[in-house]
Amino acid sequence: MRLLLFGAPASGKGTQADRLSERLGVPQVATGNILRAQVALRTELGVRAAALMERGDLVPDELMIEIIRVRLRQPDCTEGFLLDGFPRTVAQAEALDRLAQAMAIRIDRVLYLKVPDDELVRRISGRLTCAICNRSYFFDPGRPHPEACEEDGGLLLVREDDRPETARRRISVYVENTLPILVHYRDQSLVTEIDGLASVDEVTDRILSSLRSPHPAS
Ligand code: AMP
Repeated sequence: MRLLLFGAPASGKGTQADRLSERLGVPQVATGNILRAQVALRTELGVRAAALMERGDLVPDELMIEIIRVRLRQPDCTEGFLLDGFPRTVAQAEALDRLAQAMAIRIDRVLYLKVPDDELVRRISGRLTCAICNRSYFFDPGRPHPEACEEDGGLLLVREDDRPETARRRISVYVENTLPILVHYRDQSLVTEIDGLASVDEVTDRILSSLRSPHPAS
């Protein structure tokens, strides 16, 4: 199954992609995680990306398209994949269409995780991320919280781009550049809307049950 998980920053994409990848047995292809790994390694791409990511801006389309072109051709993606964080612009969506055509595959479903704006802001301001595996945790801002990741004991830190000014910029970039992609996929009748305002388990159940239904809901 080839899926695309779509939603605003802090809509729960990463958390759900993690779980769905396990439940469906397909790799999660998260461009944000790929970029953060490059930043940590201080590669040429990482150095270029870091400045943009710190501001909440997008990394140029041609770099992202090349990353995806290489990643989707790796053997673990042969039977399927779950895209998380790509495409983020209409140009990336069009490039993905061309890539899929060249690879003789197609995207089966675009899952749109819908969460109201005020909830996104609330989640971003209470989010801590594991420094090792990138898993997100949500806590009430200013309240005591555990220091380590349940999975691997990694330190829980505020992501640089979750700081309030950058987070606001990321949401406006999302509205301006990323949201228009929905029209592209609605034209292809691929979009299923998932109400993301529920517990993590409930949202996973909603997604899995929508995948069992033969036709996209919208
Ligand atoms: P994420 O972890 O998906 O929230 O991504 C973190 C940051 O990485 C974004 O704010 C962008 O700066 C960059 N990024 C991730 N995916 C893309 C993409 N498909 N196109 C451009 N920039 C991206």
